[in-house]
Amino acid sequence: MDVFCKIVNGDIPCYKVYEDEVCLAFLDVNPVSKGHTIVVPKQHFEEALDCDMEVYLHIMKVVKTLATTWVNKLDAKGCNIVTNAKEVAGQTVPHFHVHIIPRYSDEDGYRAEYVKQEGLDLVEIMHVLTVE
Ligand code: 5GP
Repeated sequence: MDVFCKIVNGDIPCYKVYEDEVCLAFLDVNPVSKGHTIVVPKQHFEEALDCDMEVYLHIMKVVKTLATTWVNKLDAKGCNIVTNAKEVAGQTVPHFHVHIIPRYSDEDGYRAEYVKQEGLDLVEIMHVLTVE
């Protein structure tokens, strides 16, 4: 059983900040900024890609509400809303979760780096990806 299932079951304690019938939100045990929060579905899904759509939409509604509230309550200047899907994308806990990371300055402990990759044919990729 993964660590977030254990938290949902009450087998591991957490600093709970929100709960409803579908999801639980608690403080990240390794916070990268003040108020760094994890929102998880109570039902187990490995990651965003395999999450049931209704559950996913519910989670994202809660995330938006909490993120807005956190920014106001903590007097943050913004926030990152992040989900990592699978190991290659940096996921370490195999239970769908969304990070809410309030941001105060570029000294916060969160880094998202976009490094342009040369040689990608955007026309070709557009044709592959265009949804009719
Ligand atoms: P990921 O890298 O999978 O997107 O993020 C997993 C997050 O879960 C990490 O930020 C890590 O600090 C957090 N985490 C891992 N184990 C626990 C735990 O037992 N309790 C809490 N509250 N957070 C955890």
